[in-house]
Amino acid sequence: MEMFYNSTRGGEKNVTASMAILKGIADDGGLFMPDHFPTLKVGFEALADMTYQETAYEVMKLFLTDFTGEELKRCIESAYDSKFDTEEIAPLVLADEAYYLELFHGKTIAFKDMALSILPHLMTTAAKKNHADEEIVILTATSGDTGKAAMAGFADVPGTRIIVFYPKGGVSRVQELQMLTQKGENTAVAGITGNFDDAQTGVKKIFGDRAFGERAGKAGFRFSSANSINIGRLVPQVVYYVYAYAKLLKNGQIAEGEKINFTVPTGNFGNILAAYIAGCIGVPVNRLICASNDNKVLYDFFTTGTYDRNRDFILTSSPSMDILISSNLERLIYLSAGCDAEKTKELMRELSETGRYTVTPDMREKMALFTGGFATQEENAREIKRVYDDTGYLMDTHTGVASCVYHNYRETTGDETKTVIASTASPYKFARSVMTAIRGKEEEGKDDFVLIDEMKEASGVEIPQAIEEIRKAEIRHNTVCSPETMEETVAGFLGI
Ligand SMILES: *Cc1c(COP(=O)(O)O)cnc(C)c1O
Repeated sequence: MEMFYNSTRGGEKNVTASMAILKGIADDGGLFMPDHFPTLKVGFEALADMTYQETAYEVMKLFLTDFTGEELKRCIESAYDSKFDTEEIAPLVLADEAYYLELFHGKTIAFKDMALSILPHLMTTAAKKNHADEEIVILTATSGDTGKAAMAGFADVPGTRIIVFYPKGGVSRVQELQMLTQKGENTAVAGITGNFDDAQTGVKKIFGDRAFGERAGKAGFRFSSANSINIGRLVPQVVYYVYAYAKLLKNGQIAEGEKINFTVPTGNFGNILAAYIAGCIGVPVNRLICASNDNKVLYDFFTTGTYDRNRDFILTSSPSMDILISSNLERLIYLSAGCDAEKTKELMRELSETGRYTVTPDMREKMALFTGGFATQEENAREIKRVYDDTGYLMDTHTGVASCVYHNYRETTGDETKTVIASTASPYKFARSVMTAIRGKEEEGKDDFVLIDEMKEASGVEIPQAIEEIRKAEIRHNTVCSPETMEETVAGFLGI
């Protein structure tokens, strides 16, 4: 059955998958949503024996119906290849009563690679399909990991350019170096003197500026987004939840049909929404545990029904989750309102005007699968140390938040359902915070690369190529701008 996409705010309807990917965001500022949820065509018994690539095909063909089988397979093969350091692509590791789904074996060692390795292929295929011959300019706001993963994915891809904005001072040293050393004539990055929300709002503003879009169009450019609002990112993320379930089944760790929990460290609500969608297409889900850091706007939302961004923005040791406006929540709002675009639009207007909104009891009921939890920085550090001391398994600070929230949940509810924890980054990406956590003291004065070498000693895990690459790489980007001058900065990069 053919799949079309509608804007969550009602302004655009019946858009093809390829067009939705190409546009990134709907003209009315809404997000594209599939007009129905398909179900997996093959059973889990068959999925259990499939490779990651084969699973990806089974899942993605349900959503991207205007791509031919051949096109889709080519995109998948080009994305999930030897760029990943394991053939499994997303291995499951059992440690301390939970299954850690390691999503960080790609080129930039964070889970963003899972979708951003394939997005450039989907997008260039989509452009051909729609005879869009402008140069595609990807505009992306990043809290640290998307930026590098998107630049690595789009670097030197013909017909594309990529421009990334990140919060200067709001990312880890490794994250910043990864971006500033990025090669590729078509890549550009700017630090902004603001936080992630400022960067994301600024990018959305540029998308919404018709006059600027026309000016760029006249110069032969078309803007698109690599943020998790693009369904070309969301759909590939559904794959690994299906894959994880199938692997648990294959390994005899669950019985067919047995429900499991997913715990996901959450920022923009993209990754956990993908888990929700996996449930909608047939993965048996008991609970979705949404883990936040000190910026616990989602925890408050799931416990009270009120979303309120009017609070201080806290810089934490899990910077990729330092977000107060979780863009993809709009999709859950839309679904729980029974796909009522008017209602969604009204709530989103309230959010932009007052910074808060409250959902109806009926909507809350429709989100009952979700449980919110949060971990403070201290709790997170203690969790990383606890698991490391008990099992030798070393996790990064984002996974630490999820692990902590999960174990608290398990203790308070007594729910012993098998649980998969999304492990979203390599600990090497956050060496300073992780080493500080396991040693219980600040590692001041020590260079990040010294800490990285010490981490290898402590964990026995090889240092990933992504880290070795930046040790001595030359800095190639040095632009800094304010949130107010992002548009000019884009114009400067494009020479328009
Ligand atoms: C982006 C990111 C997250 C948050 O994912 P969302 O899809 O934004 O909720 C968590 N951990 C890491 C390491 C990330 O890079």
